Amino acid sequence: MSVSINFSPSAWQDPPSVHHPFLTQIREAASKYRLQSASHFNIPIDVCQAAHASNPDLLADIDTDFMLYVGFHNFGTNPIFAVCRPKIARRGRDKGKFIRGAVQVWLRNKFVPLLRFFEAEFPPLDGPVADEIMYQWWNANGRTFNWTGLPTEVKERILMFCMHRSPPLPIQKKSRGRVRQVSKGAPEVVGQLGKWASLLTVSHQVRTISLRLCFAGSSDLEFGNGLCIVAESLYSFKRSIRRLAKHRQLTEGDSIPTDDKSRELEILYNAFPQIYPHLDRFATFNHGIRKIYLQLSFIDGLNFFKVTAGSFAQHPKPRLPNYEVFETLPHLNELIFKLPDATGYLEDDFRNQRVSIFYGEPFNCPRTLHRLIYESAAKVLAPYKAVKFHGFMDEDEEDRFLSLRNVAKNELIITTEELKELYKDEAGGIELGENVIPGVEKEHVYEEEREIIPDDFWPPKCRCEILCREVLHPNSN
Ligand SMILES: [Zn+2]
Repeated sequence: MSVSINFSPSAWQDPPSVHHPFLTQIREAASKYRLQSASHFNIPIDVCQAAHASNPDLLADIDTDFMLYVGFHNFGTNPIFAVCRPKIARRGRDKGKFIRGAVQVWLRNKFVPLLRFFEAEFPPLDGPVADEIMYQWWNANGRTFNWTGLPTEVKERILMFCMHRSPPLPIQKKSRGRVRQVSKGAPEVVGQLGKWASLLTVSHQVRTISLRLCFAGSSDLEFGNGLCIVAESLYSFKRSIRRLAKHRQLTEGDSIPTDDKSRELEILYNAFPQIYPHLDRFATFNHGIRKIYLQLSFIDGLNFFKVTAGSFAQHPKPRLPNYEVFETLPHLNELIFKLPDATGYLEDDFRNQRVSIFYGEPFNCPRTLHRLIYESAAKVLAPYKAVKFHGFMDEDEEDRFLSLRNVAKNELIITTEELKELYKDEAGGIELGENVIPGVEKEHVYEEEREIIPDDFWPPKCRCEILCREVLHPNSN
């Protein structure tokens, strides 16, 4: 058999009014071919009846001799012309009848399934398709995406992809000179999800995976370090902690206490998350904190690390957190502190605390104050693995801190071993006193005005070998 293909390149299409119904089957075959995958769908195939003298009449029956001249094109290229015919059953009950949906095309001197023609002429391109095509493909293919059947790590990759492409929300905006929160939620967490924040409301599992990415971070994410608190003052640190504590993680069904018993358990977990990790269904965003950067003023530094020199411990303190708050953050793995700025303006501020820490120039002694802060810090932060301090007055001070920290860490190892021994001998426990939440001051009222307690320690007078003032401001005298 021979088929002549002789088309004129211009005016090649028959008007739709004379299209034979068989064309619909060819279009269906093209559509079926394209629905195979998103990359197949990415290649449009337009099917038209070609203008050709041998084409059958609109009403012609489909029989064994039926053939239709068709142009296929995908916009931007010239049409590819081909002769199509229905596949006819050669044997069996339907012998001589057209097999519905089975279209053949003349290719290299024989009729082959149309699919083979498409594969040769309209192959899918390599590489990812545009979002729009993906969207259209899913709309057209009648299938549902089996999200729940995916392994967790694949789900994680997908959510990470959303987070990765999501520009972070602005956390703060200046408004008439005042700093105001833009987001009512917890921008430290929600900001990482950007416009994908609604992932947190999809399901427990999606919420769990999304929060884990926000908390723990990943080297593939813009926020690689996970949930970090960057606070330029103790007050702003307190605000962050309080804000995050208001948001429950809600990653399990029974995360909300419903009776007195579960409310008690929640309080217990919040106070001692390290002792009761199995109650972590009550965790808040706070418990996801991985890293803290905190900048301290002199007075805040002395309070934060509970310095007791002289009568300092007896002075009423403002209600700000102290280092014990770290005990309530079970996943904390890095602490960075900026020591108070020794070169800054050094003067007592009695509005918050009626204790004098600055002797007055030229005898202000920031070195002594730094030492009080970091000596206490070295001791109380010994259990924490990654602790850094910046802002020392000189390298000697930094070395001094590092060696104090080493001593404290070694002592801690010994203490831990002794404790183990103690437990082995007594086989008992240590009775807990009053229920105290670490780092949170009890609700004492310190509002009343108090006199400055006279003290021969405070304010420390600079007796350094070279006066601090000269070290810090060598050109001022
Ligand atoms: Zn000094």
